[in-house]
Amino acid sequence: KERLIEVNNLKKYFPVKKSSFMGKPQYLKAVDDVSFYINEGETLGLVGESGCGKSTTGRSIIRLFDITGGQILYRGKDIAKLKESDLKPYRRKMQVVFQDPYASLNPTLTVKDLISEPLDVYHIGSKKERQERTLELLEKVGLGKNHLDRYPHEFSGGQRQRIGIARALSINPEFILCDEPISALDVSIQAQVVNMLEDLQNELGLTYLFIAHDLSMVRHISHRIGVMYLGKLIEIGASDDIYKHPIHPYTQALLSSVLEPDPRTARENPIKVLEGDVPSPLNPPSGCKFVTRCKYAMKQCHEIEPKLIERESGHMVACHLS
Ligand code: SF4
Ligand code: MG
Repeated sequence: KERLIEVNNLKKYFPVKKSSFMGKPQYLKAVDDVSFYINEGETLGLVGESGCGKSTTGRSIIRLFDITGGQILYRGKDIAKLKESDLKPYRRKMQVVFQDPYASLNPTLTVKDLISEPLDVYHIGSKKERQERTLELLEKVGLGKNHLDRYPHEFSGGQRQRIGIARALSINPEFILCDEPISALDVSIQAQVVNMLEDLQNELGLTYLFIAHDLSMVRHISHRIGVMYLGKLIEIGASDDIYKHPIHPYTQALLSSVLEPDPRTARENPIKVLEGDVPSPLNPPSGCKFVTRCKYAMKQCHEIEPKLIERESGHMVACHLS
């Protein structure tokens, strides 16, 4: 399989104005030296607590903002520093589905206009072709043509997310950043949307980066899974390897929380089993970022940052424990 996307040493630092220390500018290292790849037709799940940098990683890849450092290879071509005019062909190939379909859909547009807008922007097809395409997309996501003239507020959350997906698909992208697309939906609707995304992937050969904090759904849709903590990728591997044999203590804790008897508590507080809070990203610990919460922490964990290394075939972990 061809690599569609490869990220090398990605960094995204946000300057923090107010908290400059002794006149030195301070940075929040939202994503700090993260590397991974996504094969064509594959889903890479990216998980971790809020603030771990998973959304920023995804949004860096599709160039929603400039990055601080590193490479973003799209079919081998580095798009990290391309200026807007050169990015245009890549923008067409990369689309995004956001967490909150209501906030991301213009409430004053009808479904018809919402779905066809990207086609208009890229001047794709005649007016009639665009209308036909819009209808075809609406049916593809399980909504009929009687919905065409309705507005976002007339739909349920799940339906709105289907509209968001149809809109993302309109210009035939290769890659879709799914940025917590099911987190705001009822549990009963989540599986429907995930199944639909899977069907669309098989039908259209799409590649997904699927960001979530709900680990149970991620396992279902992802071929491989990456786990982030405080701006670092700490473990990555095939879904089954991650779930059956997690190596990093943080991944183990995340997964044991999924096995909590009451799924509602696990959903509301996926990290209940972990002791203590995530340290402030403005003042992360030195050495291993997980050291303040890790029950296996050793002396060297405070001093040396563990590198992400391959432990088993295709399974990489950043931890000093062997
Ligand atoms: Fe825990 Fe040390 Fe491994 Fe970090 S490197 S996860 S502190 S054992
Ligand atoms: Mg997020």
